[in-house]
Amino acid sequence: MNVLVINAGSSSLKYQLFDMKNEKILAKGLCDRIGLDGHLKHKPEANDKPVYDEDISLPTHAEAISAVIEKLTSDEYGVISSLSEINAVGHRVVHGGRKFSSSVLINDEVVAAIEDCVRLAPLHNPANLMGIRACQEGMPNVPQVAVFDTAFHNTIPEYAYTYPIPYKYYEENDIRRYGFHGTSHRFVSDVALQELGLKNGKSRLITCHLGNGSSLAAIFSGKSVDTTMGVTPLEGIPMGTRCGSVDPSLVDIIASVDGISLKEAMDVLNKKSGVLGIYGKSSDFRDIETAAGVNIDTGFMKEGAPIDARAKLALDVFSYQVAKFIGSYVVALGGLDALVFTAGIGENSPYVRRSICKHLGGIGLYINEKVNAVRVSEYLDVSGEKTKPKVLVIPTNEELAIARDTIEIVKK
Ligand code: AMP
Repeated sequence: MNVLVINAGSSSLKYQLFDMKNEKILAKGLCDRIGLDGHLKHKPEANDKPVYDEDISLPTHAEAISAVIEKLTSDEYGVISSLSEINAVGHRVVHGGRKFSSSVLINDEVVAAIEDCVRLAPLHNPANLMGIRACQEGMPNVPQVAVFDTAFHNTIPEYAYTYPIPYKYYEENDIRRYGFHGTSHRFVSDVALQELGLKNGKSRLITCHLGNGSSLAAIFSGKSVDTTMGVTPLEGIPMGTRCGSVDPSLVDIIASVDGISLKEAMDVLNKKSGVLGIYGKSSDFRDIETAAGVNIDTGFMKEGAPIDARAKLALDVFSYQVAKFIGSYVVALGGLDALVFTAGIGENSPYVRRSICKHLGGIGLYINEKVNAVRVSEYLDVSGEKTKPKVLVIPTNEELAIARDTIEIVKK
């Protein structure tokens, strides 16, 4: 069975076609600048046909899906011979609100519920819906499945998801902690539990999804019991451009200092803060580490390299805040069996892993410096000899997780 995984943004649409017999990618690509001029990059993976990388007109998501189907089935760039070889489509949907605690087959009722969550994710859910509608139009007979970023966190207990604000905002407006990156936290925690032989029974994991957007999850016996992102992805640890948890009065203070509206002040916290705000020149950890004098391949300091103090400070603030949340989650879980690093920074930055773990000796957590200094694209145990909790690096694969859920639901 082949599954097409779709991740639709407001002006982009990423796709991967999986052969689920062996979970191999047949082709993947990106439609970009939808609604503007349009560009499609399509890469066959199952054969040596060439990459297609051209500007093409993509006025709406519907045209983008048509272009994707055309490329997937074409003689020159294709990997399947006709649309009938796509057996199901899996959609990443950002917000499932209180309604969805797992992935679902899409029908009119599900579409209406995703629409209802637009008020909670006004930037993302409308784009996800455009992707769903475009696929329903272009592939009317193919079953479609929605996989929600929030669903994995639906097991968080009431005392952890309730904000200490007037209760009417929860009752009347559904304002509470939801959390995001759920598909990634679930994927890497499943791998960790499998590898550690903890699949059945009591287990305590903290997963750190550290990428452009970053979040942590506390996972007890395979279920999320707390996470750092909130009603929106702004809360929690500092990120590339988002501030994470700060004094909420800052919104008012920034607005009055800069003479801007509250909405513009929110933009400062979403788009100009985080490590970019502190360093000032880039939100990319490779740039920041290089400026701080780090050898990004080993994570050790380069001898004699100049050290930009603000770059170093940005890394120190990030690592300290991540470690602080890890400490609080050890309390939430009543102990810790393993700490898991994933996503762009978690998988690829030995420096960040080490500087986070340097704060964690108090909970008996140590890494093996030598093993940690290697970058690999697969499961890696970087635990130190004396460590109590294990420290693991596990590459995330949200697309594969979506494809697996899709197959499971379609087969039912
Ligand atoms: P993601 O959002 O998961 O794609 O992660 C993007 C982040 O990962 C960016 O900040 C990148 O700078 C960071 N990243 C990717 N490779 C490395 C690396 N080798 N060292 C440090 N950071 C990296």
